[in-house]
Amino acid sequence: MNGEVLKNYINGQWVASRTEKTRNVINPATGEIITKTPMSTKEDTLEAIKVANDAFWSWRKTPAQSRIRYLYDFRDALEENFEELAEITTIEHGKPIDESIGEYRRTIENIETATSIPTLQMGYNIEDVASGIDEMVIKQPLGVFFCVAPFNFPAMVPSWFWPYAIATGNTYIVKPSEQCPMTMAKQFELLDDLGLPDGVINMVHGGAEVVNTLIESPDTVGLSFVGSTKVGKLLYKKCGEEGKRVQVQGGAKNFITVMPDANLERTVPNLITTFYGNSGQRCLAGGVLLVVGEIYEPLRDAILESAKKLKIGYGLEDDVQMGPLASEVGKNNVLKYIQKGIEEGAELILDGRDVEVEDKLKNGYFVGPTIFDKVTPEMTIAQEEIFGPVIPIIQVQNLDEAIDIIHKNPYGNASSIFTSSGKSAREYQYRVKAGNIGINIGVAAPISSFPFSGMKDSFKGDLHGQGKNAVDFFTEEKVVITRWF
Ligand code: NAD
Repeated sequence: MNGEVLKNYINGQWVASRTEKTRNVINPATGEIITKTPMSTKEDTLEAIKVANDAFWSWRKTPAQSRIRYLYDFRDALEENFEELAEITTIEHGKPIDESIGEYRRTIENIETATSIPTLQMGYNIEDVASGIDEMVIKQPLGVFFCVAPFNFPAMVPSWFWPYAIATGNTYIVKPSEQCPMTMAKQFELLDDLGLPDGVINMVHGGAEVVNTLIESPDTVGLSFVGSTKVGKLLYKKCGEEGKRVQVQGGAKNFITVMPDANLERTVPNLITTFYGNSGQRCLAGGVLLVVGEIYEPLRDAILESAKKLKIGYGLEDDVQMGPLASEVGKNNVLKYIQKGIEEGAELILDGRDVEVEDKLKNGYFVGPTIFDKVTPEMTIAQEEIFGPVIPIIQVQNLDEAIDIIHKNPYGNASSIFTSSGKSAREYQYRVKAGNIGINIGVAAPISSFPFSGMKDSFKGDLHGQGKNAVDFFTEEKVVITRWF
């Protein structure tokens, strides 16, 4: 790709945007410019909407079994190109190759789950609701849907939506993150080879202008947004005004609680992955560690020892366990939070700002594992999403105090408890207001047949991404009541 401007994919063709405005895509490990994202215009976007709308009626009429055959083929194409795909994600995002591989496994699972929809989940009927009268529900597709994706899972997040949308007979427009657009560009190269009818799936690169045009058009039906809560709330409101269907998966501050009866040996490696996986740039990443009672000191010391041993570097190299932050902005944001933690009186017991990397990576956006001890619930680092490799530790007296802290936070994406007590675990899953609960699981990521849940400021809407929720989001239920004389 080498510094070229990426193209949009509209009506089965690769087309240059009309814009002169571009954004550099940078390899965050080396600081090199690798390609450019076109910040596409309103006209580019209207063209994609028009072709997706034109394609809708014939795509809808295409038998469901034929529609999903393209998804089977796409799944095979992903498997055949697996290594290259994962490498592209690591190059533009920075995460270690094993994490990109994990992301692609999840992507493929979504495509597999979407293939089961038209045959198993597209309607139901009841005979003789009254004598001689039958009643049925048919689920019908609605038209053009679109997603707006974040930078942190550039492959997986779009797969929560578009395969389900096209399997149910809709047409689609993907708006990838302008920061990590190459991942979807490569997927669209593979899609292009499948012979899907023109206009069924399209991609427009860019930012707010594209998104606003998609929402304002009378010819689109609904938005699936994944990104920060700030932008998500803005778009949720706008979709309400325009009468659009909408699902907004926003930011997070995930509280991880460790009880005194937790298995220390098994818990520590889990916590390391929870807080430092993807360099902490996960909506399911640990945000605060709440430690109950006397396990506090041994747990803190064990985490500190493990964190110091993590190998930091270029994600394509062997044994690297943590890569850079995905952008300079992201890095500066994390540094700002570390400074804030110091100023507000937390004790910095591991300082990731000192991280050492090889010479060739000196322009990369690295921050090493960081740990703050003696954090209190009102501190900024205990309240806000840091989106970086930082563990703020708060000591609490009991489970009630932990749950009270969790409930005072505006987010509700995920929360985990580590314990060997069924009673504590049950109480946690019953009371904690978060959409995804982990019990001795740090990253509570639902598989593709389950909804990717979320509550409070982490989710706005009614139907979540993935699984059956996705089928309902992308269809309307029509009731038909029949009597034959
Ligand atoms: P972001 O909100 O900056 O951007 C997300 C998308 O919104 C991008 O495609 C961007 O182009 C678009 N956008 C940005 N400003 C816009 C505007 N004013 N109008 C219209 N569109 C706009 O988020 P990000 O930095 O790419 O992603 C990180 C965030 O995503 C974190 O907060 C993370 O928690 C969240 N996230 C949530 C989930 C979840 O499932 N809840 C999953 C992954 C990431």
